[in-house]
Amino acid sequence: MENRVHNEFQEKMCLLVTSFAEELPDRINEIEVIWNKLRAGWDATVLQELHRAVHNLVGTGKTFGFPQLSVEAHALEQILKNLMQKAASADDLQLNRILQQILELKKISAEKESSVANEITQTIANEDAFFSNPHPSNLIFVVDDDVEAAQELALQLRYYGYEVEVFNHLDKFRVAIKDKPHAIILMETEFPEDEMGGIHVMEEIQGELTQPAQVIFISVHDNMDCRLGAVRAGSVAYFTKPFNPVELIGQLDLITASQIQDSFRILMVDDSPTVLSYHAAILEQAGMVVKAVTESMNLMEILSDFNPDLILMDLYMPGCNGIELAKVIRQMDGFVSTPIVYLSSENDFNTQFEAMSLSGDDFLVRPIDPGHLVSAVTSRVMRARSLRSLMVHDGLTSLLNHTALKEELVREVVRSIRLDTPMSFALVDIDFFTKINNRYGHAAGDRVIKSLSKLLKQRLRGTDIIGRYGGEEFAVIMNDTDAASAAKVIDEIRNVFSRLLHLSQDEEFSVSFSCGIADLAHFPDAASLSEAADKALFQAKQRGRNKVVVNTDD
Ligand code: GH3
Ligand code: MG
Ligand code: MG
Repeated sequence: MENRVHNEFQEKMCLLVTSFAEELPDRINEIEVIWNKLRAGWDATVLQELHRAVHNLVGTGKTFGFPQLSVEAHALEQILKNLMQKAASADDLQLNRILQQILELKKISAEKESSVANEITQTIANEDAFFSNPHPSNLIFVVDDDVEAAQELALQLRYYGYEVEVFNHLDKFRVAIKDKPHAIILMETEFPEDEMGGIHVMEEIQGELTQPAQVIFISVHDNMDCRLGAVRAGSVAYFTKPFNPVELIGQLDLITASQIQDSFRILMVDDSPTVLSYHAAILEQAGMVVKAVTESMNLMEILSDFNPDLILMDLYMPGCNGIELAKVIRQMDGFVSTPIVYLSSENDFNTQFEAMSLSGDDFLVRPIDPGHLVSAVTSRVMRARSLRSLMVHDGLTSLLNHTALKEELVREVVRSIRLDTPMSFALVDIDFFTKINNRYGHAAGDRVIKSLSKLLKQRLRGTDIIGRYGGEEFAVIMNDTDAASAAKVIDEIRNVFSRLLHLSQDEEFSVSFSCGIADLAHFPDAASLSEAADKALFQAKQRGRNKVVVNTDD
């Protein structure tokens, strides 16, 4: 299967390279035509058009394995740039040089066959490491020579549903990680024989693995030496002792969530279909969903429909240029923080700088190594996604936060009314939570909150939207569900939750919750729905708690 996919990819690449070679004479003819037009009557717009056509060759030439073509096109581009800056027509010497360069281009395109196709796909084949997706992992390796500390940490992690293996010796860990390279590693930095033993071992192992291992370091040291060493050993996080276990769990949840997240959505804007298909094929091969746009004027509709994680665009396009386009996107609602990366053959530092300072986030220069393109795009999408995730998710439970949930409620009410389907809103509040905190401590309280959030996620459908509404209060939006059915589902969860045993030190205890529900059939907008659910919750508390109450009192 893997192989077949790979061959298809190689075939596609060969086809692209071949078609580029085939189109080449036409492209150069076009340059000649524009040049003749310009000579007949000198005109700034025609000069710009000529510059753009030549500039395109500079980048695509190298990309598709015609390096000499790029060199000659680049020389021609420099002359044209000069003329554009001076805003004067060419003198005889310049006319002659331009003509010479165009002849060079024609010569190259005539003699060069697409023998480079193999070479190109070969380099891409070597980028295998970038193209395979990591397997999602629920497995944690705790590596620490302190037996007790390691066991204690393992206990906590298991409590939150992680599978844990403990290693007190580096040697055993070395063998195990080769076997299960997808495990997330929690590594102590210091070992008896070496003050930075954990870091050194990780650095070695990373060099031997095909995919970098996910490692979090735990250390009593908070100095630059250790932190820098950790980063060089591929760390994704660094915790100094003593640390809050909840924060560590949060970090782990983030890593595992990022392993099972949706495919990256990349929007590419470039006026050349060949350039687009080439880069799109590379990103698609890496598992991303790519939407390619050649006509920048259609961009607005496509943006809202496709909702990209990242926009990759050319700097020079007819109609409007990349910098203008980036500004337009920045001024659209909902796209203020979408990363915009230029992918252009512009290697003039000043232009790059201008493009970035105005509205872009990064500048990649064509031709770009396929592996480099994939990793540059991946790291930017990951960062943008985790920033966005921090904005809408609650840190303790990773459920939607209050603001995000309220926004969802408004959206879902509109949608359900439009589709004429039922919908329910449920508010869940833990009973006597103040007592739990007082008796077992705040940390135990936090674990109860987390366990309820896990239970809700497990038991509710994927289409239900769950949020942490307040401290120990949760809200659930249930689509396609009337109040009676919603009550049935939540009551089952209430039943299970009230039987769960929680642990603090060596003491076991159980907790219950109350719930109030209202549906769209009785309360036709977001504000009255949440008010009605709140009233029902109050009644559930008054009638003795550990109950689900439906509000039908419209
Ligand atoms: P009731 O059955 O009436 O709901 O009683 P209650 O004690 O749960 O009352 P209430 O809902 O008013 O109290 C909420 C308590 O939850 C108060 C606050 O100290 C605690 N709390 C809020 N957020 C957190 C949190 O993030 N962690 C922990 N451990 N406790 C929290
Ligand atoms: Mg409360
Ligand atoms: Mg409460």
